[in-house]
Amino acid sequence: MNILLVEDDLDLGNGVRLALQDQHLRVTWVRRIAEAERTLAEGLCDLLVLDLGLPDGDGLGLLSRVRRERRDLSILILTARDSLDDRLRGLDGGADDYVVKPFALAELLSRIRALARRSFGGEGQSFQVRGLTLNECSRRVSVHGREVELSPSEFVLLAALIKRPDRVLTRHALEEQVLTGGARYASNALEVHVSGLRRQIGEGYVRTVRGVGYVIDRQPYEGTRR
Ligand code: CA
Repeated sequence: MNILLVEDDLDLGNGVRLALQDQHLRVTWVRRIAEAERTLAEGLCDLLVLDLGLPDGDGLGLLSRVRRERRDLSILILTARDSLDDRLRGLDGGADDYVVKPFALAELLSRIRALARRSFGGEGQSFQVRGLTLNECSRRVSVHGREVELSPSEFVLLAALIKRPDRVLTRHALEEQVLTGGARYASNALEVHVSGLRRQIGEGYVRTVRGVGYVIDRQPYEGTRR
């Protein structure tokens, strides 16, 4: 699960980011609405943790814009405004839950886990497209029942794509997910993982969208080039 944390307070943002990473959750932490919108546009975010008082605007505005475009996104509000009025406005604006500052990290984590269970239907959910199956909990991947073994990077790459069938993911978004450290600076590193993945699961699943990125289509695609 990919979490986008929007929080301008350095200590709090850093504390929450580390706590989430400790739970092996992928976190992107930004401090402004403009950066949040850029990250959301990449389409990889599953859960938005949103502070309301932000340096370049009110989080409630972002909340209603996001909710119009992404009905599937889980949204949890962090707010120092503990008036009932603000809480209700947040929930009316499309948030799934809210936590009032100051909060214990354990409380935030348990709310996030609850949202994750709701949106992913439990941690053992399998994702399936045309006989290709990936289970995030057991980390098993199979093609028409035949189990295949992927490297950790290939698994992350496949998980990102198969969870969002028919949606083209940009190279940049996938690089952020798959590549770590120095590998980000090697221009063909992503292609190496894509071809490794195709070797394992077979051709015909991961389609290249030239100049943009990659997609897994629900329906098979035609064509001679991948
Ligand atoms: Ca703030």
